[in-house]
Amino acid sequence: MSVKLSNGKLIPIEMHKVRIVQKTELTPIKRRLQAIGAAGYNTFLLPTRELFLDMLTDSGTNAMSDNQLAAMMVSDDAYAGSESYYKLAAAVKDVLRMDWTMPVHQGRAAEHLLAKVFIKPGDVVLMNYHFTTTKVHFELAGATVLEIYTDEMLKTESNHPFKGNLDLQKFENCIKKYSADKISFVRMEATTNLVGGQPFSMENLRAVREIATKHNIKLVFDGSLLSENAYFVKQREKGYENKSIQEIIWEMMSLADIFYMSARKSTSVRGGMICTNHKKYYDLLLDWLPVYEGFSTYGGMSTKEIEAMTVGLREMTQLEVAGAGPDFIKYFVERMVEEGLPAVTPPGGLAAHLDAKRFLPHIPQEGYQAGALTAAIYLASGARSMERGTVSMERAPDGTEMYADLELARMALPRRVYTMSHIEYMVDRLKWLYTHRELVGKLKFVHEPPVLRFFFGRMEALDGWEKKLVDAFIADFGENC
Ligand SMILES: *Cc1c(COP(=O)(O)O)cnc(C)c1O
Repeated sequence: MSVKLSNGKLIPIEMHKVRIVQKTELTPIKRRLQAIGAAGYNTFLLPTRELFLDMLTDSGTNAMSDNQLAAMMVSDDAYAGSESYYKLAAAVKDVLRMDWTMPVHQGRAAEHLLAKVFIKPGDVVLMNYHFTTTKVHFELAGATVLEIYTDEMLKTESNHPFKGNLDLQKFENCIKKYSADKISFVRMEATTNLVGGQPFSMENLRAVREIATKHNIKLVFDGSLLSENAYFVKQREKGYENKSIQEIIWEMMSLADIFYMSARKSTSVRGGMICTNHKKYYDLLLDWLPVYEGFSTYGGMSTKEIEAMTVGLREMTQLEVAGAGPDFIKYFVERMVEEGLPAVTPPGGLAAHLDAKRFLPHIPQEGYQAGALTAAIYLASGARSMERGTVSMERAPDGTEMYADLELARMALPRRVYTMSHIEYMVDRLKWLYTHRELVGKLKFVHEPPVLRFFFGRMEALDGWEKKLVDAFIADFGENC
C-alpha cells in the first residue's frame, strides 16, 4: 500500500503493527573488514552477528503474521494423514483452484522431482529465465536449458512493465528446431528472480499457453513470487486495475498445467509445494515423493510450517500483503535513481538491484564486478547483499568462465522486515560508495567449488583495495560506524 502525502508524493506505508522485534547491531567498519576477509569476500559466508541489515535474500526471512504464528501451534504432527495437510490442500483449492497438492521441503525439491519425472536425457526445457537451482536440477537430469526472453529483459535501464515476458517468436522457433516431443515443458517463472524480479504479463502467459496447447507442450509455472507477479499485473497491465489479486491468481492458474513454488518467498514460510489439476502428473510425481521428501501429507516439511504456509497462501491474496515487498522496493529504487545510482529499473518483485557494470565500469567481468560490489556494500553499510552475476554462474563443462548476462548486486527486502529509515540509510551509504567507486577493485577465486560455487566459494581482493576503501570511509565517518 502507498499513501499520498499532501505534497503529492506517494510513500509506501506499513499496513501492520510491529509487535515482535529482533535486535540488530551496526558493527564498526574495521570489524566489518575482518569479517568480509574471513568470509572469503562471499556474503553468503558472513554470520548474521556481523550484519546490520540482512538483504541477502527474501527466502525464508520475511516477517510472519500473528495468524501464521498462531496456526503453527495447532499443527497435527502425524507422519501420515495429518490434518495440517488437508488444511493446506483446502487452501490450495481456494486460492489456486488446483485439486492435487504435494508439499516438498522447498522449491528446489519440487524442481528435483519435476526433473526426475518429466525430463529425459537430450531434452530441452524452455523458460523465460533460469533460476540457479532450476538450471542445475534440469541439467543434471540431462536437459539443455534454453532461456527465451525478450531483448528488453537484459536492459537494466528500462520502463518496460513486463521484462519477464517470454519471447513468443523464439518459442515458435524452438518448437520448429527441436520438435515438441524433445521439449520437456515450458517454464514460466514469476517473477524472474535472477534478473531483477521482473514480472510477465497475463497477455504473455496467455499467448505462451496457446502455443503450448497447440503443440501439446506442458506449461510449468514457478510461482515462488506469485502474489508479487499478480500485484504487478494489477498495477501495470491494462484491464486488470480493478481485479483483485485473487482473481488475477485464478486467471494465471487456469493457464498452468503444473504449479510449483518455493513457499519461502510469497507465503513467508520455509517449505514448498507442487500442485496440479492433472491427476496423472500428480501420480507420476507421487511415486518419487517418499524417496526424496517424505510421505504425501508432509513431503519433508514440518507440519508447523505447513500450517503457516496454509495461512500465508490465503494472506498473500490480500493487496497489502502482495504489495508489501514491491511498494518498498519501488521506493528504494526510485530514491537510488534520484541520487544518480545505477539501479535496475523498473523496480521488481523481491529486491532492489544495482547494475555493477554501470557502478564499477573500471572492473572487467573477469574481476567479478558484482562480487566486488557486494563486498564493498557490506564494508560501507554493514548490509549484506547478494552477488547475482558471473560468480552465480556455472563454468562451461570445459572449464571456461561463462560470463553472466547481467552483473547485479541484489539487495533483497524481506517482506515487512525493514523500514523506510533503513532504506534511507542504505541510499546514503550507497551514494557514498558511488562517489568512491574508483577505490573498489577486482576479486579472484581462491577456492572454487565445482557446482553452485556462489554458496561456498572463497575469494580475495586484489591489490589491497579493501583497505583503501575503509580508510576513505573512516576519514568521512570515523571508526565507529
Ligand atoms: C527461491 C526460488 C527457487 C528455489 O526455491 P528454494 O526454496 O530456495 O529451494 C526456485 N525458483 C524461484 C523463482 C525462486 O525464487
